[in-house]
Amino acid sequence: MEATIIDGVAISRDLRARLLGELDAIHLAAVDPGLAAMMVGDDYAAHAYERRLRRLAESVGCRFQSEHLPADAEPAEALATIGKLNADPRVTGILILRPLPPQLSEVELYETLDSRKDVEAVHPANAGLMARGTPRFVPSTPASCFWLLDEHFRQTGRDPATALRGKTVVIVGRSHNVGKPAVWLALDRGAIVVSCDEYAAAAGRLAEFTRQADVLIVAAGVPGLITGDMVKDGVIAIDVGINPVEGESGKVRLVGDLDFDSVAQRAEAITPVPGGVGPVTDVWLVRNAVLGAVIQRTTLTIGPWPQS
Ligand code: NAD
Repeated sequence: MEATIIDGVAISRDLRARLLGELDAIHLAAVDPGLAAMMVGDDYAAHAYERRLRRLAESVGCRFQSEHLPADAEPAEALATIGKLNADPRVTGILILRPLPPQLSEVELYETLDSRKDVEAVHPANAGLMARGTPRFVPSTPASCFWLLDEHFRQTGRDPATALRGKTVVIVGRSHNVGKPAVWLALDRGAIVVSCDEYAAAAGRLAEFTRQADVLIVAAGVPGLITGDMVKDGVIAIDVGINPVEGESGKVRLVGDLDFDSVAQRAEAITPVPGGVGPVTDVWLVRNAVLGAVIQRTTLTIGPWPQS
């Protein structure tokens, strides 16, 4: 079987054009979106992500600003930075980049975000709306996974609104911003949803469940975690992982959580790393900052992008 490679770069280009069209229609100047990213420490992948977001945001007329704190920043400093961004009218979306150092509690920081600027839906109010199936913001990474799936369904003549009904969706990883909201989105599509984490792996039970997946979404941050013998023929495999690995030459390259070659041999479709989930996620996040601006500044409603 030859797997279709789901081309996130091409799909993100279409989405960017859609976003530009939308910005035209809602008069960019009146809405005046601004995205702010807070980074604590010096993570390689977080830096790369921030650079990409800046380029993309500025290219569509969305301001971008970054707040860098040292790796040993105290909780009070991080909370003060969030407070400053909450109060800044030029900021319509706030992204807390991860990983965070151990002295900072992710959950505590999320609770202090202005929920109308919480573009990743990690504030309890937004996470609750997501879990209930009536999201204000759909967090960018899981949104991107389902957008890529929907594009594949459309291209293969299936209706995205119904394609997952009665199908088994297995999600590996259960972080606040990827795994858990992906579970909620899959539930809302009528899928049979299984969540696996490192304890499933430690119990030696990961493959037992990944082999049942019609759709497999992997967001564990473990390079090559899922190999071809852990999936069934015809799986649609979505790889969220972005893991920097050092090659023999000392050069760093990015790989996913799927062992691409062996999974591709069995898959109906697969997303590559780089060039799969990542570029679509970027556009979605900037769009969420635009949505935040609309929520904060106007009486217009544009709502989340539909999931299908
Ligand atoms: P995270 O570290 O917060 O969460 C990882 C999750 O995976 C945890 O829930 C953990 O329980 C689980 N896990 C860890 N080891 C496991 C194992 N051996 N088997 C099964 N589950 C395991 O990370 P995250 O923010 O959810 O991101 C996951 C990966 O996705 C990272 O590589 C990150 O860089 C990448 N990421 C990519 C995008 C994108 O746009 N493509 C966006 C966000 C994150």
